Amino acid sequence: MMTYLVTGGAGFIGANFVKYILKIHSDCMVIILDKLTYAGNLGTIKEELSDSRVSFYKGDICNKELIENIFMSHNIDTVVNFAAESHVDRSIEDPGIFLKTNILGTQTLMDVAKANWTTGKDSNGYPTFLEGKKFLQVSTDEVYGHLDRDIPEGKVLEVTNDALKEVLKGREDMPKAFGKEFFTEETSLKPRSPYATSKTAADMLVRAYAETYHFPVNVTRCSNNYGPYHFPEKLIPLIIKNILEGKSLPVYGDGKQVRDWLYVEDHCKGIDMVINGGTLGEAYNIGGFNEELNINIVKKTIDIVRELVFEGEKVKPEYSSFVKVSYNECSYNLIKYVADRLGHDARYAIDPTKTVKELGFYPETPFTVGIRKTIKWYLDNQDWVNEVASGDYQKYYQAMY
Ligand code: NAD
Repeated sequence: MMTYLVTGGAGFIGANFVKYILKIHSDCMVIILDKLTYAGNLGTIKEELSDSRVSFYKGDICNKELIENIFMSHNIDTVVNFAAESHVDRSIEDPGIFLKTNILGTQTLMDVAKANWTTGKDSNGYPTFLEGKKFLQVSTDEVYGHLDRDIPEGKVLEVTNDALKEVLKGREDMPKAFGKEFFTEETSLKPRSPYATSKTAADMLVRAYAETYHFPVNVTRCSNNYGPYHFPEKLIPLIIKNILEGKSLPVYGDGKQVRDWLYVEDHCKGIDMVINGGTLGEAYNIGGFNEELNINIVKKTIDIVRELVFEGEKVKPEYSSFVKVSYNECSYNLIKYVADRLGHDARYAIDPTKTVKELGFYPETPFTVGIRKTIKWYLDNQDWVNEVASGDYQKYYQAMY
């Protein structure tokens, strides 16, 4: 039986990960630690909280005493650190909390885990650790900085690698690439925003603990996630919410920034594979070979909302209580280009070959399938959207747009 400490488990990816491991591992315990910032919501894990395998602690990953108590009360095998300040725009407004949570919080967690898992020292003076323990740091492709977008409209990806050919075989939509370069685990780390810099510092600190103390770690670096329970300040859920309300859709700059989109459950699956099979001390890229221009993501979202919400020109009865947009208004006319984000990264593109070859990871969900599932989920879960979008977020949204 494996006991996981999942930090940030009431946030978007952390909560999806909790749901995923409870579903696939019947014999596990899950301890969730979350500060419940504006981005964390107990409503997201309502069902899981009543599962006898789950315990919840409200608190900060910078609080050493609390983490020590958790380690005293539970025999933690794996720490999966999702807890973070995660929104780039907020990091530009106020970097301080990003450095504190993302860097010092990671250090605090590792220090407590290290103290609890140590068994002694080897002949060279390095600490030794209990078998089967692991600290997994959930990092991001943003640590690599950005790439050129030198194929402006993108072209279908030519896959020469056999492992990847196998992965992409039979996909409904063959992915496009918007440039020749990709991030591999060997790409140097050159973050460009305060958020990415804080995540890079944490990523490097985790690897420093592996080198200095032989502390058992893995780092995963993932591309942009989308899916259920995504907080509506991020691109896709914000667009869905605004379309339904008939509000304009803010798009930064010319909208031609390229992101590699991965359905959140595929990310969770990749993390589980790294926990179970990743070589200690190594970093693993998790990505979807699913590049797209932001503006095309917005247009596809409008198209699918239109298709799912209306019957003829009328709103379907099940959605009529909250859909404010009319059939004619639900169009690309809603798009409103706004001043570009400062230092906006042009293109992220992950090469997940190592994770595919070593662990058998594959990004299972084509974007056309994942985005439809996501939009349907938001249509069917308006209570959740209203709950998380009340309060703090509203003030932030009004100040930004
Ligand atoms: P999120 O903002 O939705 O969730 C973060 C969670 O952490 C929230 O529940 C919040 O309450 C909690 N938290 C914040 N500060 C905390 C603290 N000091 N102590 C304890 N809990 C705290 O973020 P997300 O999108 O789910 O991202 C999770 C992780 O994955 C982050 O580390 C992020 O850097 C990384 N990541 C995200 C993406 C993406 O596309 N969203 C891609 C790659 C990597």
